[in-house]
Amino acid sequence: MVSALERDVRERFRRSGYTLTSQRRAVLEALKDFKGHPSAEEVYLVVKKRNPRVALGTVYQALSVLEEIGLIEAKHWSESPVRYDLNTEPHHDIRCIRCGEVTEIRGVEFEDFAARIRENTPYEVTNASLVIEGVCPNCQSQN
Ligand SMILES: [Zn+2]
Repeated sequence: MVSALERDVRERFRRSGYTLTSQRRAVLEALKDFKGHPSAEEVYLVVKKRNPRVALGTVYQALSVLEEIGLIEAKHWSESPVRYDLNTEPHHDIRCIRCGEVTEIRGVEFEDFAARIRENTPYEVTNASLVIEGVCPNCQSQN
């Protein structure tokens, strides 16, 4: 059986005109297996374990294609390399400023936030990027 993600992957590649190369697929697989929000270097290390000949530049290129066609999202936190996320549904992530752990915030709907923005600006919002940072429970207990 073909999963919904797999159908989405094929469909997006077909529409974009990009080819679903083995490297691009390997990068997607690495993101799927990685828990959390890896940086390009972390994705590279996972891909390299399975395919030792892959180059870091190839991984960067694959990530940029996957981002362009909307399969992954790039997150920009302060003091951190760009991190990649396979979940492109609107959602909020929080990043620990001490250990760098990134967690998805559940129960806070993006739509609530979008509605508040619509109420407070005459703009039609086309894109939003929200950076949320804090101190995770682990780091709080290490004082
Ligand atoms: Zn922490």
